[in-house]
Amino acid sequence: MSTALFQNKIILDILEKYKTIWSIDHALALLKWDIETYMPESGIEERSISVSQLDLLKQKLILDPNFTSLIDRADEIKDLNDFERGVVRVLKRSIKIYKNLPPKLLEEFSKVTHEAVIVWRNAKAKNDFLVFQPYLEKIMILSREIAEYLGYKEHPYDALLDLHEEGLTSRDVSSIFSSIVPTARKVLDNVIEKRNYLQRHPLEDVTYDVDIMKNVTKEIATILGYDAKRFRIDISAHPFTIGIGIKDVRITTRYEGKDFKSALFSLIHEYGHALYELQIDEALIGTPLAAGVSLGVHESQSRFWENIIGRSKQFSKAIHPLLSKYLNFLSKFSAEDLYLYFNTVKPSLIRVDADEVTYNLHILIRFEIEKLLLNGEIKTTDVPELWNENMEKYLGIKPKTYSEGVLQDIHWSQGSVGYFPTYTIGNVIAAQIRSYMLKDIPDFYDQIANLRFTNIKQWLRDKIHRWGSTYPPKELLKKAIGEEINPQYFLQYLEEKYLATLPS
Ligand code: MG
Repeated sequence: MSTALFQNKIILDILEKYKTIWSIDHALALLKWDIETYMPESGIEERSISVSQLDLLKQKLILDPNFTSLIDRADEIKDLNDFERGVVRVLKRSIKIYKNLPPKLLEEFSKVTHEAVIVWRNAKAKNDFLVFQPYLEKIMILSREIAEYLGYKEHPYDALLDLHEEGLTSRDVSSIFSSIVPTARKVLDNVIEKRNYLQRHPLEDVTYDVDIMKNVTKEIATILGYDAKRFRIDISAHPFTIGIGIKDVRITTRYEGKDFKSALFSLIHEYGHALYELQIDEALIGTPLAAGVSLGVHESQSRFWENIIGRSKQFSKAIHPLLSKYLNFLSKFSAEDLYLYFNTVKPSLIRVDADEVTYNLHILIRFEIEKLLLNGEIKTTDVPELWNENMEKYLGIKPKTYSEGVLQDIHWSQGSVGYFPTYTIGNVIAAQIRSYMLKDIPDFYDQIANLRFTNIKQWLRDKIHRWGSTYPPKELLKKAIGEEINPQYFLQYLEEKYLATLPS
């Protein structure tokens, strides 16, 4: 850790003590990565014990009065620099969560959600909402209690949102959605009417050889650029990124054997997450600042690479020769076909398959339901009907089964309430970054056409990545681009891209 960034004696004491907490997190990250990748199935029994014991140990160290009193003292100091203030802010947030929430409540929450994930999986497989409903009910009651203990100004939902996206309120989210909905609807109707983008593409049904696709993945990652000494790619059921440390960042992808864009874009998506962690200033290693600041800002990085770059005409065209070299079935498809395949647009039932135009409408449906549930304005038994009504209202289609509707996502069973809006925050910030990057890098799209990413990465590093968690999300954005979160750029991007007469 660099003494240049951290000078204050009390802060240095805090960081010294924090090393043990950091080490526990480091070990936990590796244990969790292993669960999803290589651990033999039965290992979960012992692994669960060790993970929860390490979590408890971490909690004990964070709440140690010798530690918290140092933070309290540091909080009184007026002339801390930005990094030092960041350390205090991030640790105060952790302390607040552990201090305010009674251990009994946390224990119950953990027990219920642990069971609920298994119940949810069964309920989804059997298309039986009523099996899951009592768990949803319990999770919402406990989430409400958590919100009460954490405190909030306007809506209990704000307390939960803040856990995932520091400082974000349901008022912010509602205002973002009220801008997005009319334009997203307009663009969707227009695309369907003009048919300038396809609703389905023949390539969606084409199967591929998994080993060949693994080579494609490797080549694409190489094109995007990474340091093999700090990064690796493995396979898991659900693709994810985990920063074991700044110098050890790992992503996973999956190969379903069909519709190759799904594997391709999950790779590019996770690459965006990974780059954020990899480009954090090395002087922050071992400190509480050595991680991406929030889920929304993190998602903006993955969506930037996946959608803004990966789904652009320039990128589609530039990787067409490479993809054709590996995937023989592409010989019949032009670069333009590839672009249309990457960008099919249609109202669909499943959020994770949704395109750029409709994706946020899926999030809105979840946001509205979560808010009503948390406030006790609806009952959990009302959820399937409201879900279907909202699908009809925003997307014009209705699921015929619970599995394709209210039971499709794992989040509620895991107790992740107030998490969904961070996906939309990510989409909005990604488009905002694009607009500001275009000002600084006017030949942005030419660089993508030439598969040159050095300047783009440098921009992201300087403005966002290097800071880690130094600034809260709202402040970081203001510092990076001089503006707060603003959905207008996203809407402009949608209109530019999808209302164009012919993609050429
Ligand atoms: Mg993501």
